Amino acid sequence: MNPEYRSDVSPAMRIIPREQHSISRKNISKAALRVLYRLHEAGFDAYLVGGAVRDLLLGGHPKDFDVATNATPDEVKGLFRNCRLIGRRFRLAHVVFGPEIIEVATFRGTGEEGGEGGDRHIVDGRIVRDNIWGSIEEDAVRRDFRVNALYYDIADFSVRDYVGGMQDLEDRSMRLIGDPEQRYREDPVRMLRAARLAAKLGFTIDHAAAAPFATLGNLLSEASPARLFDESLKLFLAGHGLKSFRMLEACGLLKFLFPATARALERGDEALRALVEQGLANTDARIAAGKSVTPAFLYAVLLWGEVRDQAHGWMAQGFDMNEAWQRAAVHVVAEQCQRVAIPRRFTFTMEEIWALQPRFEQIHRKRVFRLMSHPRFRAAFDFLLLRAHESPRMRELGEWWNHAQQLPPEMLAAALGGGGVPPASEHTVAATAPARKRRRRRKPAGRGKGDSGGA
Ligand code: ATP
Ligand code: MG
Repeated sequence: MNPEYRSDVSPAMRIIPREQHSISRKNISKAALRVLYRLHEAGFDAYLVGGAVRDLLLGGHPKDFDVATNATPDEVKGLFRNCRLIGRRFRLAHVVFGPEIIEVATFRGTGEEGGEGGDRHIVDGRIVRDNIWGSIEEDAVRRDFRVNALYYDIADFSVRDYVGGMQDLEDRSMRLIGDPEQRYREDPVRMLRAARLAAKLGFTIDHAAAAPFATLGNLLSEASPARLFDESLKLFLAGHGLKSFRMLEACGLLKFLFPATARALERGDEALRALVEQGLANTDARIAAGKSVTPAFLYAVLLWGEVRDQAHGWMAQGFDMNEAWQRAAVHVVAEQCQRVAIPRRFTFTMEEIWALQPRFEQIHRKRVFRLMSHPRFRAAFDFLLLRAHESPRMRELGEWWNHAQQLPPEMLAAALGGGGVPPASEHTVAATAPARKRRRRRKPAGRGKGDSGGA
């Protein structure tokens, strides 16, 4: 690559002309191009910026396209009928094209050079509002990572690199712009972004960017739980959840997001690790296949170890099974939501998935049919399958229920007989052995989930 240097603009700036980079307009959404052209025609500067430029240069297909411009939000609104202004902390324009939204942000300045038209507010080193307009150079340096500060110029299709992002793309490295400690203090969520983007891109986190995790990770406890929920969705439900999870753990950041999960894993609960990793891998596979995923299932997976242990604890204190599971679920959800604000519609489903787990151990005729017709049966059954790692018995239970679903109802009813256990037959091969054992243990299992949590 032979970039031109423009020392008049910024000593470190590189302009990579159109023929020397791989971005093609074919890979940019029509909506984003329309916004860029419209701003340009109106006499404004207009750039594609951030993750989209990064991902295009890496040969990927960005899921969203962000635009940066010197037009103010009000000026942007004046150009597009399908435009609404959003955000107080970070004011920007959304230009809406059916299901696609193009985010248009005005260049942010530092305020040091008399920027006008907005305000910036910093509390204890944290940026709580950032609405001072500035130049593109200032806009570049307030971004988080160097690979996220590349600009694709619609005027001549060149890429502008103010901070060395092209080098980092080549090195496959996440480097922060500026002083790492200060940048994390301004916004602790950048630590999670480092881990997430490194996992997604298959990059390493530069030593200087990773070093402060140990001392500054706890600042994440001050981040807004609603924002951490959004970030956790991007970590675990965007197609690379398993890699994100491993990266978070390796960075020592998991404990700030999911303290109970991190504690259990640190204790060496290998069955839980297997369950969590398999749950994440299945989620990634579903996303890759274009299938739907529910956050509730995954959060139920992540918190399972804690809820199971607490439920057993309450049962040991004499609470009956239902009450013990309910108490455990309420406690675990309440603790977790102090960190990550999981919306009620999801926690409700999580509680149901957990509460149904002990009921899989009750193989009586009536109860089997009742459980199968429960609206949450499918999710709870998928969850049971993940628990195969807990013990051989759990694996057998999973096989039994899998088989039971494939039998026509009359055959299942016959197999279950008068409330007993399916007899050995060619239809219930998988069920026979575990079912016999289970019958003997039915009572303790009914009250206390037997040995299922002992792995
Ligand atoms: P992806 O969309 O693939 O998750 P992204 O880098 O595009 O990654 P976004 O959250 O869409 O992430 O942010 C768009 C751009 O805004 C980033 O590339 C970065 O330049 C800037 N940005 C986002 N969050 C921050 C932050 N917390 N601090 C500084 N800059 C940020
Ligand atoms: Mg993005």
